[in-house]
Amino acid sequence: MDFTLSEDQLMFKKMFADFCAKEIRPQGEQIDQAEEVPADLLEQAVDQGFWAALVPEELDGCGLDIYTYMLMLEELARADMSTALILSVHNSLVVKPLIDHGTDEQKNRYLEALAFGEMLGAFALTEPGAGSDAAALATTGTLDGEDYVLDGTKIWVSNGATAGLFLVFAKTEEGITAFLVEASTPGLQVGYREKTLGLRGVSCNTLYFDGARVPAANRLGEGGQGLKIALGALELSRLGMGALALGASERALEEAVQFSMEHIQFGVPIAQKQIIQNYIADAKTQIEALRCLVTHTAWLADSGQDFGLQASIAKLCGARTASAVTDKMLQVHGGYGYMKEYAIERYYRDCRSLEIIEGTSQIQQFLIARNIYNAEGLAIQP
Ligand SMILES: Cc1cc2nc3c(=O)[nH]c(=O)nc-3n(C[C@H](O)[C@H](O)[C@H](O)COP(=O)(O)OP(=O)(O)OC[C@H]3O[C@@H](n4cnc5c(N)ncnc54)[C@H](O)[C@@H]3O)c2cc1C
Repeated sequence: MDFTLSEDQLMFKKMFADFCAKEIRPQGEQIDQAEEVPADLLEQAVDQGFWAALVPEELDGCGLDIYTYMLMLEELARADMSTALILSVHNSLVVKPLIDHGTDEQKNRYLEALAFGEMLGAFALTEPGAGSDAAALATTGTLDGEDYVLDGTKIWVSNGATAGLFLVFAKTEEGITAFLVEASTPGLQVGYREKTLGLRGVSCNTLYFDGARVPAANRLGEGGQGLKIALGALELSRLGMGALALGASERALEEAVQFSMEHIQFGVPIAQKQIIQNYIADAKTQIEALRCLVTHTAWLADSGQDFGLQASIAKLCGARTASAVTDKMLQVHGGYGYMKEYAIERYYRDCRSLEIIEGTSQIQQFLIARNIYNAEGLAIQP
């Protein structure tokens, strides 16, 4: 296994880091306060290829391998978690399933728009009665002539108010089925925007489907294959959450190191105190362990191997690492860490979401345990 970065990967890493540090990072606080990522910043991200990360080169996309894509998410998260989540949902949960399961017609119709900034993607799976138990969803898709008619409610859809294209899951005669639904579809209404603890730059909305007619040609994959499509997309996005956790933890450490060198107590910078040094050393150790997991899992994905189990491990470890690291790095800041003017407060709030979104930590634990027991011949249920 050789983890040496190729020349292309090095070039991309530098490009991601430069853009994120220069353009996104200075806007982090404003994004949190204004509760939105400025449209011109997202447009700049289009120019940098961030919306087309996984689109093949032959379709004018960046054609990034999974590892390089993880480097992109890591740098985004280091600069701002809201921007990172917006682009992670777009790429991992909409663009990738379209590439993997879309017909030529669907790709011709939507990939260019998704890659070049005309349509942001959103993923609508969760419902009031279907969170961890996604298969319990109640939204229905009824075939009527050339259309499916969608009825039901989705909640907590990230990018809900800004997306042009939703990947929506509904129950049809054949089982759970995936649909590409344009935001302008009559009968689809974007509803309430949640007030969230963190990730405040991400619009998180309820969607109402009331007789929304979606052409049968917009069904993604076969009827009844929706859950498989959703779970496949979630494998990549869980690995992506590991990369987000990595970038966020690195940023938290950076903030705490700077603060500890400048902040004086008992006549010396607090960096001189061993307990502070221990916090810093532990955070670095957790970060490097997480980097190994993310890198190894991306390598599995890039070499065509099954990476679902490792993605769950990377997500579980990443969420815990980010929670623990932001908590301790906030502590290094003392009372300043509790104040809005320091970025660590925002990262502490933003990272709490990682234990919930795209499958809670408990669900990752179940998936990991199931894999172990299955190998022993014992089937376990969530
Ligand atoms: C900020 C944010 C953004 C989101 N964005 C999206 C999005 O873009 N698209 C989308 O579809 N969804 C989105 N979600 C929803 C998210 O995926 C769900 O919140 C998540 O899957 C958990 O579902 P739930 O909240 O209904 O919790 P529940 O499933 O109701 O779980 C409640 C608690 O019980 C635990 N639990 C449940 N079942 C079990 C079990 N079998 N064993 C042990 N413990 C269990 C859970 O771990 C949790 O602690 C978002 C959520 C948030 C907070």
